[in-house]
Amino acid sequence: MIKVTLPDGSVKKMSQGVTPMDVAKSVSEGLARNVITASYNGTTIETTTTLKTDGTLILYTWNDKEGKKAFWHSTSHVMAQTLEELFPGIKLTLGPAIDNGFYYDVDFGDKKITDADFKKIEDRVLEISREKHEFKMRSVSKAEALEVYKNNEYKTELISNLEDGTITFCDHSNFFDLCRGGHIPNTGIIKAMKILSVAGAYWRGDEKNKQLTRVYGISFPKQKDLTDYLELLEEAKRRDHRKLGKELELFHFSQKVGQGLPLWLPKGAALRDRLEQFLKRAQKKAGYEQVVTPHIGMKDLYVTSGHYAKYGADSFQPIHTPAEGEEFLLKPMNCPHHCEIYNARPWSYKDLPKRYAEFGTVYRYEQSGELHGLTRVRGFTQDDAHIFCTPDQLDAEFKNVIDLVLYVFGSLGFENFTAQVSVRDLSNPDKYIGSVENWEKAENAIISAAKDKGLNFVIEAGEAAFYGPKLDFMVKDALGRSWQLGTIQVDYNLPERFELSYKGADDKLHRPVMIHRAPFGSMERFIAILLEHTAGNFPIWLMPEQAIILSLSEKYENYAKKVLDLLENHEIRALIDNRNETIGKKIREAEMNKYPFMLIVGEEEEKNGTISVRQRGQEGKGNISVTIEQFEAMINEEINKTLKQF
Ligand SMILES: [Zn+2]
Ligand SMILES: [Zn+2]
Repeated sequence: MIKVTLPDGSVKKMSQGVTPMDVAKSVSEGLARNVITASYNGTTIETTTTLKTDGTLILYTWNDKEGKKAFWHSTSHVMAQTLEELFPGIKLTLGPAIDNGFYYDVDFGDKKITDADFKKIEDRVLEISREKHEFKMRSVSKAEALEVYKNNEYKTELISNLEDGTITFCDHSNFFDLCRGGHIPNTGIIKAMKILSVAGAYWRGDEKNKQLTRVYGISFPKQKDLTDYLELLEEAKRRDHRKLGKELELFHFSQKVGQGLPLWLPKGAALRDRLEQFLKRAQKKAGYEQVVTPHIGMKDLYVTSGHYAKYGADSFQPIHTPAEGEEFLLKPMNCPHHCEIYNARPWSYKDLPKRYAEFGTVYRYEQSGELHGLTRVRGFTQDDAHIFCTPDQLDAEFKNVIDLVLYVFGSLGFENFTAQVSVRDLSNPDKYIGSVENWEKAENAIISAAKDKGLNFVIEAGEAAFYGPKLDFMVKDALGRSWQLGTIQVDYNLPERFELSYKGADDKLHRPVMIHRAPFGSMERFIAILLEHTAGNFPIWLMPEQAIILSLSEKYENYAKKVLDLLENHEIRALIDNRNETIGKKIREAEMNKYPFMLIVGEEEEKNGTISVRQRGQEGKGNISVTIEQFEAMINEEINKTLKQF
């Protein structure tokens, strides 16, 4: 008999050799029907794997991330089988599940896959799936595996790196593939499948290697799930920040300037500036001080910080000056500079915490294939800050930072978020630097701050960096996609490397603790997420232009200008559309450009000294005739709905 512990803590005594599916059946038939995959003692296994020792069993369904992963990975096997059938002679490489679906990287040789093939592949995948083939793992020796794949240099490379005795194949139908496992019970539950796209991908992500074809797909247990997903994709396309950024004239990329280096157009720059001012105001209240540091630093700086060892080889190469031996690097991180600011003078514990904030632009090399709009760029500005404090101040500092992050989310309409606290793996203490006592203090401080602030959070053991525990926020956008925003990271490493110190109450020198934090992360990525979340309908306080004055005809130009002056006096950002166009056309364009308020001026308005207000997206409501003062009250009411005082 073995003891199988389930996640609810209940223990089942089962005979040795039961399978996860047997355990599921012993719980309920309903669970057995829905079980997709399982893990035993933390390792992913098949639902048909026999259990031989005591352990903890987790059964996953479609509703779990692991369940989806097994579902999609299994579908990639069926797709690979189909591709081999339809394109004989191709070489299969790797086919993992990803966040949304799966892909398979294939060397098509002299063959080519096009959109016209997609339907045929999808139909065949579903045909095979309906035959309910079971996935079965089989162990093979290294020699045998190499023999089987002797004509496939990719699989050969993968197998060469595996240890003999650990190599497994997965069989289903008449197909097999090199695979570690983690499959659904049989193909029958795949009811809907779609090829999403094909793209070029270098073998092992290295541009020096051969370019393969990556075939992206997704599958679902119900047709309706696929329909919903495709609708979501359409909406995501409409909201794509690259498309909106162009339409709203926010940013631009020039091949001449360089890939991955965004150029901010006036409207985009105004948007960025508003976000910066917003955060600066809140940070000032939270006790931060602004600092400014250069865009480059001596190579030595990054050798000291450890960044050079980590990123040096794969990043932008050093800049050499005409002087002998001088080497500078583009700044990949602001932290080393801020450490040196801290080091500019001695500190006493009474001076701490010091909170240095900077909208610091950093440069990191990304392969051209990895670049994507504003979300993956080579130069970006972080809303960075570093807090230097005593270990006892961590608790209060964490709460302070969480307040700031929540204020940012609230003011920008991100209402749906969760948090993750990453702590040590206690079974592996040598992995971490810093004293056990300090780690305990920091972990407790983060957890108590997260509890105190009512965050919906999970604790992940072993997810902490070697240099300190952290708190990450995961934000869900309007399309239900998750984004990581607002990391708060404790660091015991850089204070050590830069020999930071303060004089304690005991008159001795101590190391301060450092906290890295950036609520937006990077301005570029944040604006991309915000664009896709709001579809460009930013909160009014953030809009580059809050109102557009539409004159009924050119005759009212002077009055329109007078209105603009008055608005400016009231600090309302507006512009005039005085073109010789019909008012209908002007309104349509203003709606498309997402101006929150349209102010129509004509004879009547000029005579009464009023404006006729129309709010975006409220066509049915009719226009309201108001004075500038009344309009100011209206717009402030709208602003106050989202923007609160920090
Ligand atoms: Zn597999
Ligand atoms: Zn930092």
